[in-house]
Amino acid sequence: MQPDNLIFLGPPGAGKGTIAKALVQKLHVPHISTGDMLREAVASGSPIGNKAKSVMEAGELVSDDLMIQIVRERLQNPDCENGFVLDGYPRTVPQAVSLENLMNEWKQEIKRVFLFEVAEEILVQRITNRRVCPKCGRVYNLVSLPPKSEGVCDDDGEQLVQRKDDREDTVRERLRVYQEKTAPLVDFYSERKKIVTVDGAAGIDRVCEIMLNTLDGE
Ligand code: AMP
Repeated sequence: MQPDNLIFLGPPGAGKGTIAKALVQKLHVPHISTGDMLREAVASGSPIGNKAKSVMEAGELVSDDLMIQIVRERLQNPDCENGFVLDGYPRTVPQAVSLENLMNEWKQEIKRVFLFEVAEEILVQRITNRRVCPKCGRVYNLVSLPPKSEGVCDDDGEQLVQRKDDREDTVRERLRVYQEKTAPLVDFYSERKKIVTVDGAAGIDRVCEIMLNTLDGE
């Protein structure tokens, strides 16, 4: 059977991470978020983290060379045998070309690219209200998904924080970078007939159901 090699494409705040976390539990494949990997590298003070820190805080993209190397290594991990959900990668045409070459080299292919669509004002609202647990990574939203007691994680009682790049001015810059560098991937994957569009404003269960039905029908 062909592995479930999936890509989640869409602007920041479209719900890719939240849906990915739910979907991988059903598919039993790893959720590979390049943003999470970079944030871990920054937190640990590794050389990669030190290189990426200021770029991320400004809402810009980390270099293609570095990202291509990180993802190539990650996808070689045995946990990717039955597939993977790539969340936040590829984000540029050179990254997509490199991934395609990698898949060819390994005699695999990307099965589907789920494109998350959400109106820009909803994205800004969602991102600026996003809070995360620095310990376990659980993501909350002050309006739509608040923690049970204000400001602390339901799971471990840790004080929630706002990502530095989730502040409004950086969010606008991230959306601009998305339009310039990442939106061209919609054409790239449309030409390869891989895109399935999902409504990122629909509920988590509904979006997961649509995705699983799409994958089942293949
Ligand atoms: P995310 O959590 O996906 O929004 O990613 C947070 C930040 O990490 C982005 O704004 C970029 O600075 C960086 N980043 C994550 N993935 C990539 C990628 N594929 N290419 C370049 N930079 C990335």
